[in-house]
Amino acid sequence: MSLPSIAPPATIGILGGGQLGRMLAIAARSMGYRIAVMDPDPDCPTAALADRQVVAGYDDVGGALRLAASSDVVTYELEHVAVAIVDALEGVVPVRPGRLPLLVTQDRIAERRFVEEAGATVAPWREVRTTDDLRQAAGELGLPLRVKATTGGYDGRSQIRVGAAADIDGALERLGRPPGDLLLAEAEMAFDLEVSIIVARGVDGRSAAYPLARNTHDAGILAESVAPAPVPAEAAERAADLGERLAVAMGMVGTLTAELFLMPDGQLVVNELAPRVHNSGHWTIEGAATSQFEQHIRAICALPLGSTAALAPTAMVNLLGTGRRRVARMEVGEIGAALADAAVHLHLYDKRGVFERRKMGHLTAVGSSVEDALARARAAAVHVCWADDTVDVGKEGQG
Ligand code: ATP
Ligand code: MG
Repeated sequence: MSLPSIAPPATIGILGGGQLGRMLAIAARSMGYRIAVMDPDPDCPTAALADRQVVAGYDDVGGALRLAASSDVVTYELEHVAVAIVDALEGVVPVRPGRLPLLVTQDRIAERRFVEEAGATVAPWREVRTTDDLRQAAGELGLPLRVKATTGGYDGRSQIRVGAAADIDGALERLGRPPGDLLLAEAEMAFDLEVSIIVARGVDGRSAAYPLARNTHDAGILAESVAPAPVPAEAAERAADLGERLAVAMGMVGTLTAELFLMPDGQLVVNELAPRVHNSGHWTIEGAATSQFEQHIRAICALPLGSTAALAPTAMVNLLGTGRRRVARMEVGEIGAALADAAVHLHLYDKRGVFERRKMGHLTAVGSSVEDALARARAAAVHVCWADDTVDVGKEGQG
């Protein structure tokens, strides 16, 4: 039985109003949909794109019910949304993806169990609560280890590296979680490359994988992606199969991203899943026949999926903030230089404040090869900077 399509001008409710919500909203609006967004920050990046905003936190059931009242379908742009919200919306409005993707991906230990049950590989791991547990995990798994908070982490926050036995004492304190908190300790993997596979799955169970992206991180935060990843076709096919298998196991409707380590022996190790569009898929806006954002909207609205074919070798470079927390204003003198190369495209998220390492936007470039595209995007990124003479701003959205 196929579910009815949700046709424009229906309203899509988005839980979370960061840059992912903003780019989902741009894609949805261009298809004629209306947007409602729920975010605690009235000036969040999606606000300007939304017909309606509910100002509420990601655990505010009352706020979510208000969002649902004006939405024909609800989706989320981050996995840190309270499961209680999905429960409260059941029978009120379809939430796509639903409950299981949230349960699996908001808890790193649940995520590892899910991946293992789906027959895929994760880094060897242990649950730890105390320094003694960590010492035992180090004995069993070896060093280096990565110790990660089970919930709430992103952009490499809430995790630490334990490189040597001498680092074990005090390691849990460095992570800064309450004593006795359940944590994940896992072996640090000596991968060849980091890659990610993005798969969209429709309500009819059909799925489509994008070409694999190769990702480079800087201290835990995504810095660059290129696609199609320069890896053997056989590895890319295995990654696509893996992504589809995980999407089926999760009962996914919408877009699923699997961050993977490609090991020297060709094995693919799952690092993290995101039941949503992903930073490593931003290249699809210019580089693929259908952007990941449009694809997600198609999937949750029970429409046929678009082609995921790459149009050209494409690179994406994140534009991270620098310096103290202040009002974000680009140095105008430099913006023209950034776009002097006609192959380069600018995406800024209109975040009101800038601070060190905040994701402010990204650049994409298409090229004759991914390395050519990457060189162009990098050359452009050098010119993007934020004015230093603006006033300090208070604490606002963290992402
Ligand atoms: P993001 O939000 O950017 O995905 P995150 O906070 O969810 O980050 P992870 O994805 O777990 O954190 O880790 C961030 C990066 O740290 C990884 O992409 C990888 O570069 C490195 N990393 C994490 N775990 C391991 C590991 N077990 N072995 C090797 N590198 C790792
Ligand atoms: Mg990650």
